[in-house]
Amino acid sequence: MSSDAHRTRGLLLMIVAPSGVGKTSLTRRLIADHSDLHLSISATTRPPRPGEHEGRDYHFVSRPTFDAMRERDEFLEWAEVYGNCYGSPRAPIMDALARGDSVAFDIDYQGAVRIREQAQRDSVMVYILPPSLGEMKRRLYARSQDSEEVIQERLSRAKEEVALWDTFDYVILNDDFDRAYAELAHIYHAERLRSGRNCWIEPMVADLLDETI
Ligand code: 5GP
Repeated sequence: MSSDAHRTRGLLLMIVAPSGVGKTSLTRRLIADHSDLHLSISATTRPPRPGEHEGRDYHFVSRPTFDAMRERDEFLEWAEVYGNCYGSPRAPIMDALARGDSVAFDIDYQGAVRIREQAQRDSVMVYILPPSLGEMKRRLYARSQDSEEVIQERLSRAKEEVALWDTFDYVILNDDFDRAYAELAHIYHAERLRSGRNCWIEPMVADLLDETI
């Protein structure tokens, strides 16, 4: 059997959660623990927050640059969120899939749905549920990154999103980081093992059926 026949098709793992629920920490740990999984670094017109780095957290671009990228169809999806534009650059995603690797997305609900529409069989959508909206509100105020208006908008958006839980493939409750992380890693491992993603199975079965017994 050629080495190509052993290949696994990568998947697009969309991890969605309201802000302040630990989504970024869960996603970053999953990436750090899996060399075959890459984070899609979005382009955004939002200015960097303290501690954020170009190319690690986002590609920080001006509005004209973002518009030019959009016109050149360089995004797999893009959206306007809280007055800023965000987009998932297409090329690195396609490169990873072509290598048989997977891509994780730290994006909002509408972006995840748009990616699923374009790549239904490669997509896996996971929702991270906060233990309570009160706790989420407390975390948003504690990190003091947003204005009162944005915090209120994030809370009302969270309520709308939580109600859509049954449009996701998996829902994880993040009331304990280590348990939530273990569940996310199990989902990733199981999804990698799906028969439809494992290109080695078909030739292997053909060889088995050719065996004289
Ligand atoms: P923040 O400004 O807090 O980093 O992100 C605001 C929201 O935009 C978050 O829900 C985040 O997941 C989402 N987001 C980040 N990148 C993208 C992207 O490329 N596309 C979409 N649709 N949403 C994104």
